[in-house]
Amino acid sequence: MTILEQMLEGTGSVAILGHIRPDGDCLGSTLGLYNYLRLNYPAVRAAVYLEEASGKFGYLRGFEEIRHQADEEAVDLCVCLDCGDLGRLGGFACILESAGKSLCLDHHVTNTRFADTNLVEDGASSTCEVLYGQLDSQKIDRTVAECLYTGIIHDTGVFKYSCTSARTMEIAGKLMAKGIDFGSIIDNSFYKKTYIQNQILGRALLESVTFFDGRCIFSAIRQNEMDFYGVDSKDMDGIIDQLRLTEGVEVAIFLYQSGAQEFKVSMRSQSHVDVSRIAAFFGGGGHVRAAGCTMSGSIHDVINNLSQHIARQLDL
Ligand code: AMP
Ligand code: MN
Ligand code: MN
Repeated sequence: MTILEQMLEGTGSVAILGHIRPDGDCLGSTLGLYNYLRLNYPAVRAAVYLEEASGKFGYLRGFEEIRHQADEEAVDLCVCLDCGDLGRLGGFACILESAGKSLCLDHHVTNTRFADTNLVEDGASSTCEVLYGQLDSQKIDRTVAECLYTGIIHDTGVFKYSCTSARTMEIAGKLMAKGIDFGSIIDNSFYKKTYIQNQILGRALLESVTFFDGRCIFSAIRQNEMDFYGVDSKDMDGIIDQLRLTEGVEVAIFLYQSGAQEFKVSMRSQSHVDVSRIAAFFGGGGHVRAAGCTMSGSIHDVINNLSQHIARQLDL
């Protein structure tokens, strides 16, 4: 029996949580578990609690049933997915605190083990991959497979980041065998962009700046620019990936404004800089090759602070 199966024994109600600004792996793992419980544990009352997510994930079954407000009633079990620390639960931390017991399934190297039981596989491509290992593969239907496949393609950049392993591909193959329309999932949730999303991507690339001899690149989008194009944080996917692909770049940084003097920071590295260490220093976290944090000050301050840490790792 897996840890999840053990913890579900005798459980009447389950709250499923993810992280703030939910991404593909967060939505895929939370809704994947939700659909799996609905199918195989019909007596269990389950609900997913997340912030408002991008409508491009609307094809995932249960997307419309996601609750955006915490309920008063305490649940027997709280399962936290793809979340590395308590702060990332956002306004839903109260659900964890009042729950009878809690389980965290995750793959962030910076995970703080905040739940009662924590299964953190930092070598896994995605939380969906960790979750797959906790489920009975025979009991996964097409709707669950669509969720898990979505999480895997988002956290692997469609099977190309270094976190992709032979096991990732094996799992993806097993999910494909459930009859999912994998091509549409990849196109609709990963590559497709709205007109304004293309515009903000173009703007970010146009305004990008290289430094440290072309080994680093950054771009920043201010609130007034977000207002001008009519975009919000959910429209920024893919910008950091394109910056990362700039020839000669080891570290890519993308910032967008999230408050008066506050920026959400995304970092990616190509081959040797550990960006999770830098993000963790500034109160964030993530993975060795992909990490993030929120920083205050001007764009200049943020880049200045980050570049000191990058310089040390680049041996400058
Ligand atoms: P992002 O750049 O937002 O796509 O995030 C890259 C990775 O870092 C993801 O795995 C996130 O879960 C993680 N991450 C991003 N921001 C934070 C943060 N403020 N605290 C902890 N982890 C973060
Ligand atoms: Mn995530
Ligand atoms: Mn993830």
